[in-house]
Amino acid sequence: MTTVIERDQLLVGGVWRQPAGSGRIEVHSPHDGHLVATVPEATRADADAAIAAASAALAGSIWSPGAGKERAELIRKVSAGLQARAEELAGIITDEMGSPAAFSLFGQAIGSAMVIEGFADVAESFPFEQERPGLMGRCLIQKVPVGVAVGIVPWNVPIFLSCMKLGAALAAGAPIILKPPPEAPASSFLLAEVLLAADVPPGLVSILPGGAELGRYLVGHPGVDKVSFTGSSAAGRTVGATCGELMKRVTLELGGKSAGVILDDADLATVVPQLLDSGLQNNGQVCAAQSRILVPASRYDEVIDALADHIRGLTVGDPSDMATAIGPLVSARQRDRVEGYLADGRASSARLVVGGGRPAGLDAGHYVEPTLFADVDNASRIAREEIFGPVVTAIRYHDDDEAVAIANDSDYGLSGSVWTADVARGVALASRIRTGTCAVNSVAIVEPRSPFGGFRQSGVGREMGPEGVEAYLETRTVVLPFG
Ligand code: NAD
Repeated sequence: MTTVIERDQLLVGGVWRQPAGSGRIEVHSPHDGHLVATVPEATRADADAAIAAASAALAGSIWSPGAGKERAELIRKVSAGLQARAEELAGIITDEMGSPAAFSLFGQAIGSAMVIEGFADVAESFPFEQERPGLMGRCLIQKVPVGVAVGIVPWNVPIFLSCMKLGAALAAGAPIILKPPPEAPASSFLLAEVLLAADVPPGLVSILPGGAELGRYLVGHPGVDKVSFTGSSAAGRTVGATCGELMKRVTLELGGKSAGVILDDADLATVVPQLLDSGLQNNGQVCAAQSRILVPASRYDEVIDALADHIRGLTVGDPSDMATAIGPLVSARQRDRVEGYLADGRASSARLVVGGGRPAGLDAGHYVEPTLFADVDNASRIAREEIFGPVVTAIRYHDDDEAVAIANDSDYGLSGSVWTADVARGVALASRIRTGTCAVNSVAIVEPRSPFGGFRQSGVGREMGPEGVEAYLETRTVVLPFG
């Protein structure tokens, strides 16, 4: 029996504090239902205290525009702290939200350390201050912290997404309040410990686990200047509307329905495992999952057979086992949602090739079999909506132009990939796919030093790289006399 994680304090303004309320969040294992963690649920009063501490830190201007190196040093300490505790962090993530152990370790824990490390380089090289000649004087262009920032994250990759926001805010010198989700709050306490061990300055970071109500309160709070939200497009729309109304800066990273395009010259032995690793990664709970697989008509049956064979060979079960490929979904609610799409797919003109039910012998967890639908119409619900479960849809196309048209015929525009023996052909095709990221012969959906974000309903703005740091800055001009 593993030990239950019990926490009594919250990180508020860079120090542990007693929570203002008495509410608790209990986390149960999606694998077998055992109690994994019990942590305080943050309240409005905690949010007020965190915002006050952040405002005070900002007013005290902890960091001058020229302090990029100092910021980089702190970011590197946080990255090293995460790296040193990666196995422990991965274990908590697997326990609380069911991510397979290998993905929790490499994709989530070590991935978080790498993501945050990427911001150290940006902090060192970013042009926070530049002089330009003007008509009436010399102009000093300054990039100053945007103000108090709030980062709201979902449960699927909670620390990785938190680090995308935290790293950018630290690089920019903006205080940030992170709100982890109630489904997966326990891992954020380890992040808090890492921040304290890295001597994060007072006021700069708070971590307040809570639900949508707390999220709404933070977004609407007059003391908050910038919101970076990752989650569903539905919630993102309301966050965007509130920020528009209140004229707050906002970044929205939302859903996806990305296309992995297999070209007719692709080597299936290398493509299929990689592409399915993306489509089914984290039990299919990845915003940038390549969940629509576009298959050339000339090799259709061969590709479908290869996809089906690979899926049949995947190990489904206890996510704490390093050999597991598919673990449980985060909650019964999420499984119900996914099963709704499975019923929809069965009722459509699509053909269920493999999966479609619950795996045998895993009744205590929220499991769904990895599933492949073939002959999918790109207009159908299972091709258009984000399922957020281990379900991939195969869609037939006849030539490269049609592949591009189908890939682009989506309300979303987050990610994508093209698979081919001819890299130049792949790059030409990838350049026509209107998504924030598109990879050639790779499922590198997030690159730590490059911008990440979506077209259309997948969001507004970019995270990561200099573009991601820019989102936590305001630009101002100081005009100086000539001479
Ligand atoms: P969700 O939108 O319900 O919740 C996400 C987070 O927002 C949670 O912390 C939640 O408490 C909070 N929240 C919900 N409603 C809110 C509101 N009105 N105001 C403020 N905060 C609110 O999403 P979910 O179901 O928890 O997560 C899955 C979704 O996240 C999927 O749609 C997935 O595609 C998306 N996602 C996007 C990315 C990306 O970078 N584009 C990454 C991961 C997940």
